[in-house]
Amino acid sequence: MIIIKTCKDLYKIGNGPSSSHTMGPKAASLEFRKRYPNLASVKVTLYGSLALTGRGHLTDYIVKSVFDDIECEIIFDLKTEQEHPNTMLFVGLDNDGNEHQMIAVSVGGGDVEYDNVHFTGSEVYPHNSFDSIKDYCVVNNITLAEYVDKFEDINDYLNEVYSTMLNAISRGLKTEGLLPGELGIKRKAKSLMPSKRHFFDKARRKTIAYAYAASEENACGGIIVTAPTCGASGVLPAVLKTSIDTRRYKRKTLIDGLKVAGLIGNLIRTNASISGAVAGCQAEVGSACSMAAAFLAYINNSDIDVIQRAAEIALEHHLGLTCDPVKGYVQIPCIERNAVAALRAQDAYLIASELISGDAKISFDMICKTMLKTGKDLSSRYRETSEGGLALDYGKDI
Ligand code: SF4
Repeated sequence: MIIIKTCKDLYKIGNGPSSSHTMGPKAASLEFRKRYPNLASVKVTLYGSLALTGRGHLTDYIVKSVFDDIECEIIFDLKTEQEHPNTMLFVGLDNDGNEHQMIAVSVGGGDVEYDNVHFTGSEVYPHNSFDSIKDYCVVNNITLAEYVDKFEDINDYLNEVYSTMLNAISRGLKTEGLLPGELGIKRKAKSLMPSKRHFFDKARRKTIAYAYAASEENACGGIIVTAPTCGASGVLPAVLKTSIDTRRYKRKTLIDGLKVAGLIGNLIRTNASISGAVAGCQAEVGSACSMAAAFLAYINNSDIDVIQRAAEIALEHHLGLTCDPVKGYVQIPCIERNAVAALRAQDAYLIASELISGDAKISFDMICKTMLKTGKDLSSRYRETSEGGLALDYGKDI
């Protein structure tokens, strides 16, 4: 039986711009060094999505940074097909002339599987569906946050997550200039903050600016939290910061909200995917929106059915969302998309809170399954390869 893993695996603190293309490859490179500390040279071959969008996602840069004291060659293999789109082959020669190999697969959210062994992580939760968790909570008369507390002690770590999210927004709002790369995009977060001339929708305008701030920090390789991925790391922080601005929530309530959002993200990771290379952007920004909607429902004292419905609505209306980053950078459409999803999370919660509790025809568990099936139906051109959609049309006179 698949069991849900710790929230720490979902909320990773690290450098952007991509959990699958920078965090995962960095972890794999460190693992290869740990296995073979006596290396003299290394050749790293990137396949599939890593080969197609690795340059824009800084995969080569991050791998080289781990092997900066030895000879390191990176090969972008655009032709050889692998079972998983984010496969890496490490071949190293040690100082005694012995050859060593390791296959690593960056499966999403910074997780890595080695030599065809399935990623296990730290499995701490005994349930693997929202329905089974809900049944447990009802029988034991506990909330979803209390459910998380029952199986892992994560308060200290989530306090760090909370601060890292807010710090990313704060840095992003202060920094101007250009994002790295050849697209020549200006950082916009600061200019998006509402001013005196804005009389209406100030809170929502702030949500937009906050999502841009965190996402621009991610695009620049700043320290962010995967929620659930780097590319989608602006959604939940924007909703968190807007909540702090608009109402006096207790810190504990907000940390508990992050627990519930983490549970939702982990359920999606367990039963569907959080990888753009596997299931398109619905798996990244769609999942982030679902987590943020559940967060809002929880901190506003909603019952468990409303929380489920908010998360379900948010994911349902991202079904089919493609991943087509222009020139492989996590910038267009990613940054703007985080802002749209943050607003959509607020809307999903609002709609869920007005509908009749317990009357939903589509469950959260069902939408996870549908999302994965939809992702598998998507052409590989729309799964983080930059071979279709905006990535193909950008710069053309259409
Ligand atoms: S389009 Fe979505 S899934 Fe693809 S890189 Fe951007 S944020 Fe990630």
